[in-house]
Amino acid sequence: MNLVFLGPAGSGKGTQAKRLEADYRITQISTGDLLRNAVREGTELGKQAEPLMREGRLVPDDLVIGLIEERLARGDIENGILFDGFPRTLPQAEALDAALTRLGLKMDKVISLEVPEEILVDRVTGRRSCPVCGSVYHVRTRPPKVEGRCDLDGTELIQRSDDTAEKLEKRLEVFRTEIPKVKEYYRKKGLLAEVDGTGNPEEVYERIRQAVES
Ligand code: AMP
Repeated sequence: MNLVFLGPAGSGKGTQAKRLEADYRITQISTGDLLRNAVREGTELGKQAEPLMREGRLVPDDLVIGLIEERLARGDIENGILFDGFPRTLPQAEALDAALTRLGLKMDKVISLEVPEEILVDRVTGRRSCPVCGSVYHVRTRPPKVEGRCDLDGTELIQRSDDTAEKLEKRLEVFRTEIPKVKEYYRKKGLLAEVDGTGNPEEVYERIRQAVES
């Protein structure tokens, strides 16, 4: 089963993707994570992407598509893929279709997590993450057991440089412009399911599961 997860920063995509990955034994591919790895490793791509990411702007389509093609070519995917944070533009959606077709695969469902913007601001500005294992916390709604430290490995938690109110506004602006086109593309193909992303993570997961299985 191959799925796409659409949703703005703070919509809960990352958290919900991890659950789906475990329950359906599919592989999560997050372009945000792949790009952050490239930045950390100091690759050529990472150097090009870093200033754009810091500003909440999109990394150019050809770079992101190249990254996805490279990831798919690794050939380690068995049951299916969950694309998280990709596609974010119409050309990316078209390129993804082409890449899947080349591999003899198809998209099964596109889940769009719908969350009002005022909730996104609270979720994103309170978000703290572990730079080592990627665990995500929230200062108020999901605090770590020891303040500022990851529950799993004790690493000092960080606030992502793009998780400030100002950067979030830029990211939302980009999202508002590009994502309606991506949604329309998948709606026309009969693949789009819009899911209410408000409420606690368990409720949201249940709605997602129903949408995936319908
Ligand atoms: P995310 O973790 O999905 O919020 O992504 C963090 C940042 O990485 C975004 O604000 C963009 O700068 C960049 N990025 C991630 N995915 C994409 C994509 N599919 N296309 C362009 N830029 C992306």
